[in-house]
Amino acid sequence: MPRFYCPAALATGQKLDLPAGAARHAQVLRLQPGDAITLFNHGPLWSAHAADTAEGTTHRGVLGGEFDATVIEMGRSHVRVTVGAHHAVEREPRRAVHLAVGMPANDRMDWLVEKASELGVASIQPLMTERSVLRLVGERADKKVAHWQSVAIAACEQCGGNRVPTVHPVLNLVQWLKAQGDTTAPSRSAQRLLLSLRNGSVPLRNLVQMQEPAPQCAPDAAFAVFLSGPEGGLSAQEEDAAIAAGFAAVSLGARVLRAETAALAALAVLA
Ligand code: SAM
Repeated sequence: MPRFYCPAALATGQKLDLPAGAARHAQVLRLQPGDAITLFNHGPLWSAHAADTAEGTTHRGVLGGEFDATVIEMGRSHVRVTVGAHHAVEREPRRAVHLAVGMPANDRMDWLVEKASELGVASIQPLMTERSVLRLVGERADKKVAHWQSVAIAACEQCGGNRVPTVHPVLNLVQWLKAQGDTTAPSRSAQRLLLSLRNGSVPLRNLVQMQEPAPQCAPDAAFAVFLSGPEGGLSAQEEDAAIAAGFAAVSLGARVLRAETAALAALAVLA
């Protein structure tokens, strides 16, 4: 059944036009009136206000889970649906794991965002570091982040995730580490883990085994934040700065993994 991210307050019986991205997707799939679809709304583009004004009615709506829906009209540029039953189902990993990653260049970051979203990452922080090949600022950075956010949405539509991870605006590592020191940072109580090839890094598996059985995390609570380097790795000074900011160096084994492989392997172990 086709699934669409519809970041609005949804309520059974409500009629609404799908947002532009979802409508385009429905048109590509050549959906017809009467076709059944699934909608989910939990994610970074959520806007209760936009939905409250739908149909001129106030829909209190539900955030999270998923809704049955039926296509009632396929226009040239709009797709109208009726919202059906709500199902309080989530397919999130037990632990909310956030990823801060030195952005790999070319399409490797797209690949990373897609696979991390499938694995249930809670959020992705793209970082510029000393050795980053990909350097993004201003409008170019904003466009890339919007693109990666749409990659994350498409991945959730495909894999059954009902919570789209937020792709944060690009920061440089120094700025980001400074923000980690903020006591109001959402990740303040999370384990801070630096993926590192330096001697003395603790095998990530050991760390996880020590914690089993893992407690079920509240879906919005940050359990761990991984910091991983770009193609050329983090410099020794950058790793030192991360450790000074409370990150523990962890290892994924003796092999040097590509930047995107390392981040995904860490997620797969912990999520
Ligand atoms: N020559 C670079 C270096 O020595 O740092 C290699 C960097 S590696 C391609 C990119 C990033 O992936 C690293 O900065 C690290 O965060 C992570 N990484 C790769 N292999 C890893 C491993 N076996 N254990 C932990 N982290 C790893």
